[in-house]
Amino acid sequence: MVSAGFIGSCEEYSDANVVLFGAGADSTTSYRPGTRFGPAAIRAESYGIETYSPYQDRDLEDIAFFDAGDLEFPFGSPSRQLEMIEEKAARILADGKTPFMLGGEHLVTLGAVRAAAKAYPDLRIIHFDAHADLREDYLGEKLSHASVLRRCHDILGDGRIWQFGIRSGTREEFAFMKEGHVTTESFTCATLEKLGSDFKPRKDGAEPDFASLPPVYLTIDMDVLDPSEFPGTGTPEAGGLRYDELRRAVTDILSRFRVVALDNVELSPPLDPTGRSTALSCKFIREQLLAFR
Ligand code: MN
Ligand code: MN
Repeated sequence: MVSAGFIGSCEEYSDANVVLFGAGADSTTSYRPGTRFGPAAIRAESYGIETYSPYQDRDLEDIAFFDAGDLEFPFGSPSRQLEMIEEKAARILADGKTPFMLGGEHLVTLGAVRAAAKAYPDLRIIHFDAHADLREDYLGEKLSHASVLRRCHDILGDGRIWQFGIRSGTREEFAFMKEGHVTTESFTCATLEKLGSDFKPRKDGAEPDFASLPPVYLTIDMDVLDPSEFPGTGTPEAGGLRYDELRRAVTDILSRFRVVALDNVELSPPLDPTGRSTALSCKFIREQLLAFR
């Protein structure tokens, strides 16, 4: 049956383990706007993919996720948008479900991280991006997509943020990494499997005791991908990850770690008239939904 939600979404919120919602804000986009159209484009285009994943031999029809639609933002007020996102994510977390937010520009992550850090004070962040997003401010503005991980660091402190694929930032941002405030792998994500021992499931081959693992917020700025595969984004950076590399990394994280909330951000459909970036996003979202334990 065709519904307004992402393909394969279930009818009832109460049945769902994972709850998709759209946060189509682009108030602080620094270069080319359009991410506000991301969630609607993803829903519409999701009917162009299969619900079945041959990668995982799983089908969206067999899992329970709910698409809660989009937040309706007052444009021009990033702080109010962040409050609305925090409220939404906090409600989903309080109901014992996993929020999966579709951006929107990357600043939206701050609202959901605020909610997740209140629910889980020992929260970690795994961050995929072309950009460090660690600026203290962007042209004097502290609430910017170029500062979002720095604002998350303000909340979580040192040693809680792991970044992958980073290939752009200021000298000050790279110095901030080198000072050890965050752990960054530039250009690639090969060290992912060596993430700190506090992340890892048991080594004896037994099923990990999931509830005892540290809680992880997973944020994926889609511009971590190479622009040849993902041109539909406001600040494209050459030299990025391939889709299949990202897919394998992220499905591995979702199956092994205790991801309590996640997002995919920075798709800007108007910047890719071929539609391949939106199509990639839909397929990637399917794989993430299916990789959840
Ligand atoms: Mn970003
Ligand atoms: Mn980025």
